[in-house]
Amino acid sequence: TVAPEIFETSPEKLLAPVLSAFWDEPRSWTLETYLRHDGYAGLRKALEMTPDEVIGYVKDSGLRGRGGAGFPTGMKWQFIPQGDGKPHYLVVNADESEPGTCKDIPLLFANPHVLIEGMLIACYAIRSSRAFIYLRGETVPVLRRLHEAVREAYAAGYLGKDALGKGLDLDITVHAGAGAYICGEETALLDSLEGRRGQPRLRPPFPAVAGLYACPTVVNNVESIASVPAILARGKEWFRSMGSEKSPGFTLYSLSGHVASPGQYEAPLGITLRQLLGMSGGMRPGHRLKFWTPGGSSTPILTDEHLDVPLDYEGVGAAGSMLGTKALQCFDETTCVVRAVTRWTEFYAHESCGKCTPCREGTYWLVQLLRDIEAGKGRMSDLDKLADIADNINGKSFCALGDGAASPIFSSLKYFRGEYEQHIKGRGCPFDPAKSTVWA
Ligand code: NAD
Ligand code: SF4
Repeated sequence: TVAPEIFETSPEKLLAPVLSAFWDEPRSWTLETYLRHDGYAGLRKALEMTPDEVIGYVKDSGLRGRGGAGFPTGMKWQFIPQGDGKPHYLVVNADESEPGTCKDIPLLFANPHVLIEGMLIACYAIRSSRAFIYLRGETVPVLRRLHEAVREAYAAGYLGKDALGKGLDLDITVHAGAGAYICGEETALLDSLEGRRGQPRLRPPFPAVAGLYACPTVVNNVESIASVPAILARGKEWFRSMGSEKSPGFTLYSLSGHVASPGQYEAPLGITLRQLLGMSGGMRPGHRLKFWTPGGSSTPILTDEHLDVPLDYEGVGAAGSMLGTKALQCFDETTCVVRAVTRWTEFYAHESCGKCTPCREGTYWLVQLLRDIEAGKGRMSDLDKLADIADNINGKSFCALGDGAASPIFSSLKYFRGEYEQHIKGRGCPFDPAKSTVWA
């Protein structure tokens, strides 16, 4: 879902959608459509600059990684050592799998060529001639579309040897993963791409120093790379005119749950959930917001008190959560918090790669306790036990999956401890699951 009208509410900030500009057009995914919409204007601009100037330009634009962590994209490119005699790689992380997150996959489905152009610019900047797209394997229609887009780009002379006659060489390989959440963690992704079992590596060294095949590697999210062509074509000042000082630009939000119109919404960073709900038709009729996630289940939940929090890294951080993937999952008053947290925790226990003890064992214990509480078999002491286990996972696990698993536990106990107590005292769940469409 793209709601063009949302841009009219802040015309001085974003006059028209960028990434989702022509998603609704017939055959939006073809090179022909892309070229009709000024495709490759960004690459032409980039090729007028030196690679270092392109890195500086992206750095000055303030673009931050759209995969969740918000790391400055230009700075990541700058970390790639030059003149080291090793090959450099670009790996695009398209293994989108954070619960509630659904923006990279629709973007690739509707407009794969913007990613290819962004990859050409990034590879020119970091001096790489080999790039990979690691796609979530279950999305077979997207895989087919990406293969076709890469084929079209080769045929038109954008990929391969001496692209555009400008001495730029780039080969892109599209690789489909096998559906493990952990393979979205950048180092597990690299292991998987190398043909091994996908498990996180110790960092440092970061991939920028020793990544794919132990060579300097930039791992960037789809949306980050797809944002680059417009920045080059329209200018860093234009990009900075949207969003906030430290979180500039436009972005794709995934809106889901008990809302009237779930889907993808493109808007500046710094917009609030109240504004987004206002523009998208709000919660489902007759219901009100109870709690929500700013960036998927790995980010602490917030409540209706936080409707006016600016959706940027600083604003959401100040409210005690994280912007993450900008996956706004909204739950209304029919939802049992304990049930929602149990469902998420089951997901983390299932997806834990098993490499480290706090996450492997801790997520299992959390599930047992939560299921007992939800089933009316819990004890008051279980609440301290839940917090204690989460505390022993958080910051003590090998990768961010562990911290993500602890997030809903801490935040739900903070805002809804009374609801947990109600389950324990009343010997069961006070909610009627039949009334909540999310869990049906
Ligand atoms: P991170 O902050 O550790 O790293 C972010 C990026 O910056 C990485 O690419 C890392 O290599 C780079 N980096 C950081 N410090 C560096 C340094 N000193 N030198 C060189 N490079 C450096 O975050 P992370 O563990 O990579 O990712 C966690 C995030 O992933 C969470 O915020 C979460 O929102 C997100 N996430 C996203 C999805 C999804 O589907 N998109 C799924 C799960 C989690
Ligand atoms: Fe694996 Fe979980 Fe440890 Fe990450 S935190 S390495 S997913 S066991």
